[in-house]
Amino acid sequence: MRLSRYFLPVLKETPAEAQIVSHRLMLRSGMIKQSSAGIYSWLPLGFKVLKNIENIVHEEQIRAGHHPMLMPILQGADLWRESGRYDDYGQEMLRMKDRHNRDLLFTPTAEELITDIFRSYVRSYKDLPLTMYQIQWKFRDEIRPRFGVMRGREFYMKDGYNFDLTKEDALHAYNRHLVSYLRTYERMGLQAIPMRADSGPIGGENTHEFLVLAETGESEVFYDSTVTDLTFGDRDIDYTDKDQCQSIMEEFTTRYARTDETHVEDEFHSQVPEERRRTARGIEVGQIFYFGTKYSDALNATVQNDQGEKVAVHMGSHGIGVSRLLGAIIEASHDDKGIIWPEGVTPFHCGIVNLKQGDEEADAACEALYKSLTALGLEPLYDDRKERAGAKFASMDLIGLPWRITVGPRGLKNGVVEVTSRRTGESEEMPPEQAIEKITKIYAGV
Ligand code: ATP
Ligand code: MG
Repeated sequence: MRLSRYFLPVLKETPAEAQIVSHRLMLRSGMIKQSSAGIYSWLPLGFKVLKNIENIVHEEQIRAGHHPMLMPILQGADLWRESGRYDDYGQEMLRMKDRHNRDLLFTPTAEELITDIFRSYVRSYKDLPLTMYQIQWKFRDEIRPRFGVMRGREFYMKDGYNFDLTKEDALHAYNRHLVSYLRTYERMGLQAIPMRADSGPIGGENTHEFLVLAETGESEVFYDSTVTDLTFGDRDIDYTDKDQCQSIMEEFTTRYARTDETHVEDEFHSQVPEERRRTARGIEVGQIFYFGTKYSDALNATVQNDQGEKVAVHMGSHGIGVSRLLGAIIEASHDDKGIIWPEGVTPFHCGIVNLKQGDEEADAACEALYKSLTALGLEPLYDDRKERAGAKFASMDLIGLPWRITVGPRGLKNGVVEVTSRRTGESEEMPPEQAIEKITKIYAGV
């Protein structure tokens, strides 16, 4: 993309309404624009990152054997009356009437609808296990929407639902989700720690939340400092292997890590040596639940088992805050100049800064770099504006592309361009071909 042709409404001033750094940086870098409280338009740059995050979530869900599908945003009230949640959900559920005076609601989650789909078609245990998921807009009429996309009213969420014959199979689905989530967050350059949580209105006995440590997090968290040493890495996973999923689940969840809802001070003290006890703040970026037969009982979702008996299916649901993740990633990865995107989600692979737009040689070198990188399947953002070098650097630092190639007449005289890492600030001079090779190599591993 050529910056002169792009829509990137960068703000010079820090918007007064933004209280936390991710919100400020998303507004300043022209990623989002508020349309009403807790509701945002996604401008081209923000939309690109949102889609990158969504793609990683899709890839990892499909890898785990889960089937993508899509359910409607507007739902009729009847199923919610059947489950009892039409009344239980309270004011967070946005309700409306259609022209025939029928009750509709804007989906805050979709346990009822998916259970209805299941009960309409699935009759036999032979069709299990089954996990379906969607990435779809949700609406919750939060009393205090704030922090930009972190606590919106309209937000983008991955919600998945598993159906299993037995509790044991459903717990495997639970573990499989935990493992796939660990992998998902790591690909986004994030450490998200699974913490034992409280199930709230969804109900059920097993639940973990995934928290990214950040000062601006809304949850207070208590953990054994050694949980932050755990990384998923590039392990080979067979998601159908119950023992492997179980052992990874145990590896990541046996050490003390709780949100304030389930924290017990005495247990913390007895289980964690004093020098390893940490209290911090965290951003919830996902949650998984096993809730047994709560919804299948309420909505009569049964299958025949191998004895020919009708039994209620065991279920769980699993969510990732796709739009909240943009805020969480920025909270975890920025400096005083702007965002620092992890390579896994960056909107463009690298920036190209032309120090002397209009200089024949510099323009030609930038064009050549731009074309070569594009031909290799990469997406560079070429700052081809007639701007001062300082202004170009400031915009690049603000929008946070992890790599920048700087091209100027002086370097070109010696046959070199400069490659700079946004994270470390370190620069290296090299011939253009080598710069292309370096960037290509970096993204081959992402
Ligand atoms: P919270 O406790 O933050 O209100 P929740 O526990 O009600 O969230 P879930 O039902 O578990 O949320 O939804 C799955 C994920 O969706 C959450 O882990 C979070 O990342 C995201 N999410 C929930 N509410 C919002 C919101 N208002 N704005 C943006 N993302 C949200
Ligand atoms: Mg939650």
